[in-house]
Amino acid sequence: MSQQVRGVIARSKGAPVTIETVVIPDPGPGEAVVKVEACGVCHTDLHYREGGINDDFPFLLGHEAAGVVEAVGEGVTNVAPGDFVILNWRAVCGTCRSCLRGRPWYCFSTFNATQKMTLEDGTVLSPALGIGAFADKTLVAAGQCTKVDQAAPASTAGLLGCGVMAGIGAAINTGGVGRGDSVAVFGCGGVGDAAIAGARLAGAHTIVAVDVDDRKLEWAKEFGATHTVNAAQHDAVEFVKSVTNGNGADVCIEAVGNPAVYRQAFESRDLAGTVVLVGVPRPDMTLELPFIEVFGRGGALKSSWYGDCLPSRDFPMLIDLYRQGRLPLDKFVSETIGLDGVEEAFHKMERGEVLRSVVVL
Ligand SMILES: [Zn+2]
Ligand SMILES: [Zn+2]
Repeated sequence: MSQQVRGVIARSKGAPVTIETVVIPDPGPGEAVVKVEACGVCHTDLHYREGGINDDFPFLLGHEAAGVVEAVGEGVTNVAPGDFVILNWRAVCGTCRSCLRGRPWYCFSTFNATQKMTLEDGTVLSPALGIGAFADKTLVAAGQCTKVDQAAPASTAGLLGCGVMAGIGAAINTGGVGRGDSVAVFGCGGVGDAAIAGARLAGAHTIVAVDVDDRKLEWAKEFGATHTVNAAQHDAVEFVKSVTNGNGADVCIEAVGNPAVYRQAFESRDLAGTVVLVGVPRPDMTLELPFIEVFGRGGALKSSWYGDCLPSRDFPMLIDLYRQGRLPLDKFVSETIGLDGVEEAFHKMERGEVLRSVVVL
């Protein structure tokens, strides 16, 4: 029997979101219905609403979530009803060419639930990133559920499902930050601050936070930035060099997705250092770099997909670190809101007033 719940829907490009009745089918083979307890408001939800991802309206928004498995379909073995889970948008397939080469964090063939959630009139919904968790319940592939210790409140744990994992993973998994490294992070929203927290966790000794908003630079200090610079007032490249003996940072993380900022990250890097792009560019952007410098500086220019994470490996570990007081996940939660607060949360996000607004159900 299908069931009806409330969900936050983006009906058309740019239109304010509305709360509507969503029909959730019973879980089929390999699927799970999850009772959502909390879901963070991420820039990607706003991008969907703005038509920046694709035109498959209407969208059921929300994808940074934690909750409790209510029911599972045939053949599901990784989770059971009652399990506390973080939802992920990388249900690893195990059979694609990347998985077969032992690199499942790049999985090229991730999957979602087969059945569709709909509006009452039968209109098929497109769940954001295959999740759709601004809703009382959602239908996902069981592989999108990662069971974790209930030590963290859902509002905190859910953030690992997207932005915070992307940032931590950009530093640790993609950037390979290690003990004694110097790191510069460009853009200090949720993802950038998570990269800062990840760099501290990994043992970086110098962590430079770069942003154009002094308020965000203050937040960055709380996550472990040892130096901050406002790039609207100072030359960020010169500043990074000035605090790294004139050399530049070993790992420069771009968390904005802007060519001019990327160029700063590129120029702030020490010889043989690594640039990590975790900010998401717009499709119309192009990048120009002095080619001789790309060669001459050596090292690596990398992109980080979802922090190159493996949910089954990384989520439980990060929850353990949170429980031990080594990862300040609570600090990412600026406010908790209801489903009716999502539209206003988008505006607060655009104004840079919050790291994360989290819908609590
Ligand atoms: Zn795969
Ligand atoms: Zn997200």
